[in-house]
Amino acid sequence: MVKVVAGNWKMHHGPDAAGRFFSRFRPEEEDGSVRLVFFPPDLSLGAAIASARVPADFGVQNIHWEPAGARTGETSAEMAREAGATLALIGHSERRHIFGETDAEVDRKVGAAARAGLVPIVCVGELLEERRAGRLEEVLRRQVGAFAGSLAGVAEFMVAYEPVWAIGTGETATPDDAAEAHGIVRNALGALGRAPVLYGGSVKPGNAGALVSAPDVDGVLVGGASLDPDVFARIAEACGSAGS
Ligand code: PEP
Repeated sequence: MVKVVAGNWKMHHGPDAAGRFFSRFRPEEEDGSVRLVFFPPDLSLGAAIASARVPADFGVQNIHWEPAGARTGETSAEMAREAGATLALIGHSERRHIFGETDAEVDRKVGAAARAGLVPIVCVGELLEERRAGRLEEVLRRQVGAFAGSLAGVAEFMVAYEPVWAIGTGETATPDDAAEAHGIVRNALGALGRAPVLYGGSVKPGNAGALVSAPDVDGVLVGGASLDPDVFARIAEACGSAGS
């Protein structure tokens, strides 16, 4: 099965740096064994699309749920689409925990992405204290349950399981941890079908292969390690070899 390898650049790589990234990004796996996806900052989307030399899909890191209006600083799904995005990351833990995004807002954004024809990649994940309190399943079921209704009839979507304690910390879930959480997510998706479920949280070249080999792990969403073209190429190669 083709593994999804997605890079979330967060607030890094302006247009010039995006061009430099792609002038050096040369993964050896260009045989279709991985699907590459990039989430540059909005201002770098055009430069990234124009300078990519490998087959890849591009998305935005966030959208507003309204198609247009008095929402200073926001980008709508329709505008993202017009600018060349085909996917939208929704409900990333930094949106939820730094910007206070709620489950209800995540749901509105999922609906907006779907209406605009963007593929939503919806992020879910528990805090360390929730995991320690044995609330992993409850939290994941609540987060998935909040947006699942908006995905009925949507042709393509993905979910990214990103334990909050593993994002940008160097702490990684074990392949067994990931498999358990992905099983819960898949179960919570129920009748919505077999959408890809990605793992995110301190993915690196050294752990990517083992993570994507775990049951129910269909790819990775990579933050920090996606910024360096050589490191991200090695992650793509590791996922390609593991999936073949
Ligand atoms: C992320 O931002 O989605 C992420 C998983 O970050 P990192 O890989 O840096 O932990």
